[in-house]
Amino acid sequence: MPDIAPPQTVLAASTPSVISPRAIRMHPADNVAIVANDGGLDAGAVLPEGPVLVERVPQGHKVALVDLPAGTAVQRYGVTIGFALEDIASGAWVHERRLRMPEARGLDDLPMATQGATTLPPLAGYTFEGYRNPDGSVGTRNILAITQTVQCVAGVTDFAVQRIKAELLPRYPNVDDVVALEHGYGCGVAIDAPDAVIPIRTLRHISQNPNFGGEVMVVSLGCEKLQPERLFPPNAIPIQDTRGTGSAGPLGVPPLPRGETRSGAGGFDTVCLQDDAHVGFMSMVDSILRQAEVHLKRLNARRRETVPASELVVGVQCGGSDAFSGVTANPAVGFCTDLLVRAGASVMFSETTEVRDGIAQLTARATTPEVAQAMVREMAWYDDYLKRGSVDRSANTTPGNKKGGLSNIVEKAMGSIVKSGSAPIANVLSPGEKLRAKGLTYAATPASDFICGTLQLAAGMNLHVFTTGRGTPYGLAAVPVIKVATRSDLARRWHDLMDINAGTIADGQASIEEVGWELFRCMLDVASGRRKTWAEQWKLHNQLVLFNPAPVT
Ligand code: CA
Repeated sequence: MPDIAPPQTVLAASTPSVISPRAIRMHPADNVAIVANDGGLDAGAVLPEGPVLVERVPQGHKVALVDLPAGTAVQRYGVTIGFALEDIASGAWVHERRLRMPEARGLDDLPMATQGATTLPPLAGYTFEGYRNPDGSVGTRNILAITQTVQCVAGVTDFAVQRIKAELLPRYPNVDDVVALEHGYGCGVAIDAPDAVIPIRTLRHISQNPNFGGEVMVVSLGCEKLQPERLFPPNAIPIQDTRGTGSAGPLGVPPLPRGETRSGAGGFDTVCLQDDAHVGFMSMVDSILRQAEVHLKRLNARRRETVPASELVVGVQCGGSDAFSGVTANPAVGFCTDLLVRAGASVMFSETTEVRDGIAQLTARATTPEVAQAMVREMAWYDDYLKRGSVDRSANTTPGNKKGGLSNIVEKAMGSIVKSGSAPIANVLSPGEKLRAKGLTYAATPASDFICGTLQLAAGMNLHVFTTGRGTPYGLAAVPVIKVATRSDLARRWHDLMDINAGTIADGQASIEEVGWELFRCMLDVASGRRKTWAEQWKLHNQLVLFNPAPVT
């Protein structure tokens, strides 16, 4: 864990007597620190054991702790995040225009699984109340998902979902929600291109997320490229009887007789809008409602039961990052990641462009050379993917990142990787794959918040942790999203959007360990349904965005 400088007590002459200038250095070798005070610090402020500021430095931005002649390697997190482009005086603002970014490390000669499979001490006795599924997975919510094969059916499905919520859901009080899995894929795409496997398996695996109870219901148009049988090939999902029970539905309409809706080879049923049986829009809507009720009945019979914390499948990511992300929220998440791994749970970290610059740390932490090799394979694939678009990993950083003090992708990556804690990396997933093992997994995804969340859903996550410094109201309809603020100022202003304030770490009010434990306990409460996240409270959620590296037509 990084060393956090203790709060400063020396007061600068130019600042009011109540303000103690505070800066945070992450590693003893660092020659810069970031200003912690709300609103930044003015010239003349005296840093603890450090220089007097020679100019104003905004909050979260770096200040030179020593003179940095042109060409000097600027160190943060104990690694080189850039080289001084000009002479930078001690106490000056080290902003991105004064730095040259280092080249990305090559993917040859990396340390492969050199740290050995050191196991963390087990953590026993923690449980939550979850929904056990027939396949052994555990849900944290009880949701009816309606899978769509193509964007064309989105409007009809949404219309039907509004009616299901209004007319059916009140009769099935154990079901939390009805969610249409809307996406932009399904037609107008080169579906036989090799990379099309990614969006297709992503959608398939999302339909099987533990929060959906093994119930798979599909709405199809009929003429689309992504036919239901292609989405769910034989044996893709367990076979079960998804037909009606023969009793009249809520509209007084008997369920369709066997065969009238298309049935795939696996255990799913399909309402096909272009079926000859449909005459008029309302007949389509009625078909969707009828099939939905079959699934609602079964979901309504689910009950929470006490399960070990090892059944948590947590996806962690960050978005709207600032220089505090890697100081407060992400280290607390990293500590919590270690707690989860110690409890036998599954944790995924992702965001390829944000770990690319730390590849040597990650391959060293792999449990086996094969796992390290899989990580290199994912990085190489992504390097090529970016190259095709004539960019590299530096295309990741946003104007907000830079305003928040992050000079470049190297600095951002060092703060991002911290979310993965210290456990050995036991497994690697390609985009859209389903989780195969417990412990710490690198699930390769783009860093885009919506695409990363969508791919982690496909991997089987039942709880999402999201850290933010600039602030984002991000949410997902399918799983609870616990949002962690990196700064107290954000937590204060967004008091009804942020679930945890890790800014207390920079304020000197709490330790990384304390916030990590707070997050761990919050996870068990949220997973059990005892606590709602703010995004759930306000029903804020972003769209699913399928990662489609293949051509569109
Ligand atoms: Ca992200």
